[in-house]
Amino acid sequence: MIVVMKSSCSDDNVKHVLTFLDKNGLSGHLSHGVERTVIGVLGAVGPSGAPGGLGGINPSLGESLEGMPGVEHVLRVSKPYKLASREFHPADTIVEVPAACVSSGVVEIGSNQVVMMAGPCTVETEMQLMTTAEAVRKEGAVILRGGAFKPSTSPYGFRGLGEDGLKLLAKARDEFGMAIITEVMTPTDVSMVCEYADILQIGTRNMQNYMLLDEVGRTNKPVVLKRGMSATFEEWLLAAEYVLSQGNRNVILCERGIRTFEKLTRNTMDISAIPLIKTLSHLPIISDPSQGTGRRDLVTPMSLASLAAGTDALLIEVHPNPDEALKDGAQSLTIDQFRDLMPRAQAIASAVGRQFITE
Ligand code: PEP
Ligand code: MN
Repeated sequence: MIVVMKSSCSDDNVKHVLTFLDKNGLSGHLSHGVERTVIGVLGAVGPSGAPGGLGGINPSLGESLEGMPGVEHVLRVSKPYKLASREFHPADTIVEVPAACVSSGVVEIGSNQVVMMAGPCTVETEMQLMTTAEAVRKEGAVILRGGAFKPSTSPYGFRGLGEDGLKLLAKARDEFGMAIITEVMTPTDVSMVCEYADILQIGTRNMQNYMLLDEVGRTNKPVVLKRGMSATFEEWLLAAEYVLSQGNRNVILCERGIRTFEKLTRNTMDISAIPLIKTLSHLPIISDPSQGTGRRDLVTPMSLASLAAGTDALLIEVHPNPDEALKDGAQSLTIDQFRDLMPRAQAIASAVGRQFITE
């Protein structure tokens, strides 16, 4: 249920509604739009500690709310996801990530800024990570990617350096000032990964790992939630709802291609997901054309297309010597290719009225 307040409502009117909700065991979530304040209403607290959704809301409460001073009308949310929906929270969510390399000290994801996140698929060695970090920073990346815990389709594939990899990422942050995004795969690793990471990545294979979603939802770290490789938009947004409903509102969605019948590309990059998600949800959406295509030659065109479609950030794999990469070499840009991409990406961003934050 959503309580839409009149544009002329007072702070006391809002407070009155919130108190009424509280007395009835409901939680009210305020959202201040440009023209209107809306209050999203969720049901009683469920057994996991998260709000219980709409199930238990007595319809007569809607009528009482409708009669209160300052209330314009009360709406039912038609979607199964609530906190993630645009209806519930009309204004765009902006996720702030601290990064020493920019003068403001904070990078915004979901605002008018666009953000370049780049780095190797996987942290392999100190030399590989530092070389890549230095190069991508020089071109304007402000967030460094790199997996320390790697989901590997084959159990014989490289599974990452674990905590040693996280330590190398932290070292790169100290040296170059970029924020760090890295994947966390299990609930038990969440607190340890939080000690090193600025953004937690939930991989495509874990989009529906509900215990993991609950656990990252109990932190206050920004979370990048990759789209499950065969997930519908509704399933994806319900996965986001798990994180949001635990109290962590810093969720960023990531389009990374979906599984189709096609074999020439590793995945089918769904650029339409970017504008579509923006109609369904207030959450930022970013684009990963590296996993999205699996092919280095397609990463630049799909990056530009993503920017034209309104992505809030790009997440790109770069390797100093992709032919020797332990993982995802075929889809990793060389440093030279990344250097060529940046000015073109900046030109597309400004054509759609946005600007990369680089310093
Ligand atoms: C990655 O970013 O390297 C990765 C494994 O991503 P995904 O979960 O989208 O496959
Ligand atoms: Mn990868």
